[in-house]
Amino acid sequence: MLKLLSLLAILPYLCHSLPATTPDLTPGRTALDNFPLIDGHNDLPYNLYSKLKNQISKFAFDSDLSNDTVFGFQACKSCFTDLERAKKGKLGGQFWVAYVDCNPSNYSTIVSRSFEQVDVIQRLIKKFSDRMQFVTTADGILDAFKNKKIASLIGLEGGHSIDNKMALLRQFYDAGVRYMTLTHTCNLPWADASPVDDSNNSPEVNLTKFGEKIVLEMNRLGMLVDLSHVSHNVMSRALDVSKAPVIFSHSSAFTVHNHHRNVQDDVLEKVKLNQGVVMVNFYTAFVGNDNATIDDVIKHINHIVDKAGIDCVGIGSDYDGVSSVPKGLEDVSKYPDLFDKLKEQNPERWTIANLEKLAGKNLYRVFKSVEAVRDQLATSMPDESLIPDEDLAENTASVGVLPTFISIVISAIILKL
Ligand SMILES: [Zn+2]
Repeated sequence: MLKLLSLLAILPYLCHSLPATTPDLTPGRTALDNFPLIDGHNDLPYNLYSKLKNQISKFAFDSDLSNDTVFGFQACKSCFTDLERAKKGKLGGQFWVAYVDCNPSNYSTIVSRSFEQVDVIQRLIKKFSDRMQFVTTADGILDAFKNKKIASLIGLEGGHSIDNKMALLRQFYDAGVRYMTLTHTCNLPWADASPVDDSNNSPEVNLTKFGEKIVLEMNRLGMLVDLSHVSHNVMSRALDVSKAPVIFSHSSAFTVHNHHRNVQDDVLEKVKLNQGVVMVNFYTAFVGNDNATIDDVIKHINHIVDKAGIDCVGIGSDYDGVSSVPKGLEDVSKYPDLFDKLKEQNPERWTIANLEKLAGKNLYRVFKSVEAVRDQLATSMPDESLIPDEDLAENTASVGVLPTFISIVISAIILKL
């Protein structure tokens, strides 16, 4: 007893003399070996369309294309992706994006061309099935990771691709599409796109009743609702309506850099309640300016954590959809540097466990939750609603706002964001 008492008496001194806790020197990139890095948005399929007309039989995706005469840095300003560099970058999962311009001159072919983009993604995955695995479920991502393949999912960018029809939404789901971005840069008859936030004379339909039904039908199907590209009001309303957590597949933080494509703080607060995930976009114009660096991207990531919490942030690089990326994140081989740097700069926040959340655990949790809502709704019937005629009439009028509309179309054509 006496011994114990004397030991207790000297204990404070003993503790005092112990060295401070050894800092955890494990590099941040270790997180990417533990859980798949799931990037929410890569537009490579658009480059396959614009450069190869989707004829990919000779496309050497499994070699380093940095100096390729078609897909290399010199030849192509918006090319950052191949499987060699993705391997270096420890890319574990990717939403490959099916996107078609929303230019009205394309209206008659938008649906068929969107399906062609889904088709080229499926063919690409099959052609490189030793390194990619087609995935349509949350657990499929983990299975691909176990097989050391890139979990390859399909996202559909822009509700214009469903031509205002529930039937087409369902058909895209059946073809393997697991998220739909409600709009691209064009306003739709049922949802506004983000450029309206910068304009006083653009139409604002917000999310119409029909738009709300589309969100609910996506919930019923088990398709992730993607709110990148939509207006501030549509983000907010969709968050109110959705029965499942939502995603922003490639959006950064408005407070860090004021751009209509970024997410405002009041929306981030709603994301916290909804437990969705905002996947940070690397595009220089969204994260800062032409001289943006990896540190600017880190500012956006940290701001989203400050406002929405550590469970609601992810990565949505937008590689191959943009023409300029930050210094330090030059292509898909660079993700590990981002994870190292986050941990070096703020080891208390960016533990390996939290880096795993950023990498993919948050998106995985959202996906599981979307599937759970789908299962709860298993007995509800498909929505047979048609878009009301008056909604279409309003939209025709909106196309009449030519100056804004033309500028949106031109920017969409020049640069696929
Ligand atoms: Zn985009």
